[in-house]
Amino acid sequence: MLRDLLINRELFEEIKLKSFQEDSCEKMESFEKRVFVKLKKKRSLKKYKKFGVKKADLKEIIELSDRVSLKLFDGPSDYQIAEEHPEWCSHCGTCCTQSSPIFIHRDEINLLLIFKPSLNEEIIQNKEYTQHYMFKEDLPCKFHDPEINRCKIYNFRPQVCRTYPLVLIGQDRYTLDLLHKCDYSTQLVLEKSIILFDEAIKRQKK
Ligand code: SF4
Ligand code: SF4
Repeated sequence: MLRDLLINRELFEEIKLKSFQEDSCEKMESFEKRVFVKLKKKRSLKKYKKFGVKKADLKEIIELSDRVSLKLFDGPSDYQIAEEHPEWCSHCGTCCTQSSPIFIHRDEINLLLIFKPSLNEEIIQNKEYTQHYMFKEDLPCKFHDPEINRCKIYNFRPQVCRTYPLVLIGQDRYTLDLLHKCDYSTQLVLEKSIILFDEAIKRQKK
């Protein structure tokens, strides 16, 4: 299979087992289907038939793109790729209404208090990330305006909103949140899948 040219199968299975998103299989499946439809248009099975590429190969490449950073192949990190493509965000508002928790760093509190003086009453300390606070209730976020489906404080939004769909796991590691329907994540994984697909084909040609 094409993916075996990029990563050892057993190693990948181990990575998959440790993936923090594995408990939501249905959501992952539907995410991967969306990427698959797009990838097929970019790397058609017809064109790559001569290399023995099948539908399952595209699916495996997407699965790899979901779970590993291209840094593993001396490429850019997810963060670096995402940073270059602000246009991938369709401003759908899903992250503001369905994703939780929303972290607020202690250095961000004073600015946010200007917009929402009652904020002090509505937040609690985040026990895992002690420099951060979080809303007691954040679905939807208190700063989301449902009438226009926009953030009321967009230019002053917390860092966690600026990096979404990349979310912090552990103290300094980011991973992609694939459990919500986010065009940004779809485009990011599509971009990575194309890069990995081309790399695998290059290795196969050697
Ligand atoms: S980051 Fe994703 S979920 Fe949030 S508004 Fe943009 S496209 Fe929608
Ligand atoms: S602060 Fe703004 S961008 Fe962040 S979750 Fe709330 S509404 Fe969305």
